[in-house]
Amino acid sequence: MAKKRLSKRLQRIKSIAERYGTPIFIVDHDRIRENYREFTTSLPRVQAYYAVKANPLPEIVRTLYKCGASFDVASFPEFMIVYENIKNMPAKKRQDWIWDKIIYANTIKQIETLHKLDQFKPLVTFDNIDELHKIKVHCPHAGLCLRIRVPNTGSMVELSSKFGAHPGEAVDLILEARKANLVVEGISFHVGSQCNNFENYMQALQLCAGIFRESESRGHKIKILDIGGGFPVKYDNKSKSFKVLARKLNAEIERLFSKDIEILAEPGRFMIANAATLVAKVIGKAVRDGKPCYYIDDGVYHTFSGVIFDHCTYPIKAFKDGEKKVSAVFGPTCDALDTISVAEELPDLEIGDYVYADNIGAYSHASSTYFNGFPPAKVLHINR
Ligand SMILES: *Cc1c(COP(=O)(O)O)cnc(C)c1O
Repeated sequence: MAKKRLSKRLQRIKSIAERYGTPIFIVDHDRIRENYREFTTSLPRVQAYYAVKANPLPEIVRTLYKCGASFDVASFPEFMIVYENIKNMPAKKRQDWIWDKIIYANTIKQIETLHKLDQFKPLVTFDNIDELHKIKVHCPHAGLCLRIRVPNTGSMVELSSKFGAHPGEAVDLILEARKANLVVEGISFHVGSQCNNFENYMQALQLCAGIFRESESRGHKIKILDIGGGFPVKYDNKSKSFKVLARKLNAEIERLFSKDIEILAEPGRFMIANAATLVAKVIGKAVRDGKPCYYIDDGVYHTFSGVIFDHCTYPIKAFKDGEKKVSAVFGPTCDALDTISVAEELPDLEIGDYVYADNIGAYSHASSTYFNGFPPAKVLHINR
């Protein structure tokens, strides 16, 4: 069988695995910078807040910080990962930076967290009256952003069952906040992650425009529109084009919102998904019911956690050529749930061979565990 000619990129990836061992999670910072540039040039009116939960590695946050990104954090530890980059700024400058460039976008916050956040006077989201009362008592210096519930139809990960005020309650909540001497600066939504149905965004923008109008007519002008995350990544041919979405968003934002409204977005997946590759090694093999089965040193409790939590699939590829057979690929733990795929097209692999998965940067390493004593994959940063 002819030897497969590997591209420069794959040669580099493979030699990294040989040198540092597996499983190894390789993050390409050139790609992160390209993604940031593509996002901000395609949506020129939109300020991009990287959703840190997609991948909170400090080196990734650092690269985006240097690009000029803003950040969406959803816990106090995530806040501190961003804060690390600005801790040496003069106090006034740091406070302005936080106000302009961080949104705490978890609508439900522990009281201890609110206490810790208050000194930083951040922008925080909420979606119900109980949270409003908590903020009033424990984080009265925060600015508010009201998250509303919008259609999540056809998104890979659905969020509307857990978050968002009913749009019909929005103006009442805004006025309640004002009674409590808090200011609702903005309205936010999330159409669901990896959104392949752009109607979700269009409907959400319409709903927000209605709330902006009604709120203004009742004496409270909203200044910020936060269009959330959900921007699709090109995982395969079924993924919809981000460029097409950007054009639609630009046109609809232009039509519905006056120039003085600030527009924010919280892209997570879009910034990081295609910027990481995982290399693993075949540690065992078997034939079950006539099907080749490979056991590799990473699985769904680790970098492939997105198979479970993110409803995502990551094609497993070999570095070598050969006649392909439908094969199963399992992780290293003693749980049958630890199944990466029951149908991968793979050539005959030997113990010790390497395999890799691309587009695995988002919601992968971030939710890796230590189950069964296997630690998360090592991380290697390239082109930093
Ligand atoms: C997870 C999350 C995001 C990021 O979503 P993507 O689909 O990865 O872009 C943005 N905003 C909030 C509030 C989130 O919970």
